[in-house]
Amino acid sequence: MRTDFLPFSRPTIEDAEINEVVDSLRSGWITTGPKVKRFEEEFRSYVGAPYAVPLSSATAGLHLTLLALKIREGDEIITTPMTFASTVSICVLCGAKPVLVDIEPGTLNIDAAKIRAKITERTRAVIPVHFAGQSCDMDPIFALAKEFGLAIIEDAAHAAGTEYKGQRIGSLDSVSIFSFHPNKNITTGEGGMVCTPDEALAEEISLLKFHGMNREAWKRFAASGTPNYDIMLPGFKYNMMDIQAAIGIHQLPRLDGFIDRRTAIAEFYNRELADTAELALPAYAPYEQRHAWHLYTPLVRIEHLTIDRDTFMAELKKENIGTGLHYKAIHHHEYYRNTLNIAPGELPNADYASDRILSLPLFPLMTMDDARDVVEGVKNVIAKFRK
Ligand SMILES: *Cc1c(COP(=O)(O)O)cnc(C)c1O
Repeated sequence: MRTDFLPFSRPTIEDAEINEVVDSLRSGWITTGPKVKRFEEEFRSYVGAPYAVPLSSATAGLHLTLLALKIREGDEIITTPMTFASTVSICVLCGAKPVLVDIEPGTLNIDAAKIRAKITERTRAVIPVHFAGQSCDMDPIFALAKEFGLAIIEDAAHAAGTEYKGQRIGSLDSVSIFSFHPNKNITTGEGGMVCTPDEALAEEISLLKFHGMNREAWKRFAASGTPNYDIMLPGFKYNMMDIQAAIGIHQLPRLDGFIDRRTAIAEFYNRELADTAELALPAYAPYEQRHAWHLYTPLVRIEHLTIDRDTFMAELKKENIGTGLHYKAIHHHEYYRNTLNIAPGELPNADYASDRILSLPLFPLMTMDDARDVVEGVKNVIAKFRK
């Protein structure tokens, strides 16, 4: 058994990031400024989006996107139960009702074929979440959006570097929202980016992100600027700082290498755990795509064991293997259990995954020996608790 604890995730921070942050700190300008502008431009260009707006988080991006799309009281937004709480919480905070559609059993992405049945005259938008870094099947979702005049808001928190049928997530005709939380494929500490081809929408989000101010502060205080400004509308305080972008501009050039490394580890797990009947391994979608492998999420087939998933995770911890939980389904959380009125059995695939899923360690700094330890730990726990 390994002697030190292996966390489920850990960011890759090198001297380049550290030196760039120190440079910001010493420069006299630490909040939104030239480094944010550079990160915005480089990220926009990497994903192939016409416009990008850097923000303090993906949650802020979801919030401003719904506000800019004029989502309001009584509107319905279709999304997946297999996501982080903020995807649906922001809908509720804007007065809209999240409508959950079941997932596909293999990819755990929203089942596009089940969306139509949930569309009503109140439906305004669909929020597909590219689960674990694998693209949702976007063609049928775009077709429905066109037929019913719905907005598509991609929750791309897992999907920096993901591709769907040769197109990078971020470059489609929609709004996509990326996260740079430390667990994500690249980080800025905390941070997010909204990408879209819609210039007016990007402009509205840009205004809303910083007090509704018509010019950014660093331009006003630059030698060429003037200190005066106008408030165009009441706005939020959701801007990204240069200290954050300083990290991001050195992460982004390494993103493809990070994904290669994540893919090698995920494929190692796929090979080494293929014959383990007590696990259902993550499935590849049948269409052409690039999986960014943000998470490796097998389902523990608890029917074959004497313990439940939470105990399985506790036992793995005793083996010094950390795990994550992505996710307990939205409608299994206290607030949403009480407010969404999901009938028992309405979302069977999400229910099934919710009770069985766990995230095994997956990050670029892991060694193949670490990955071997994970496989050994998983097999030890299974051998101990097999029925
Ligand atoms: C991380 C995450 C978010 C929120 O991102 P933040 O940058 O932490 O606000 C939203 N949706 C999903 C699916 C996520 O994984």
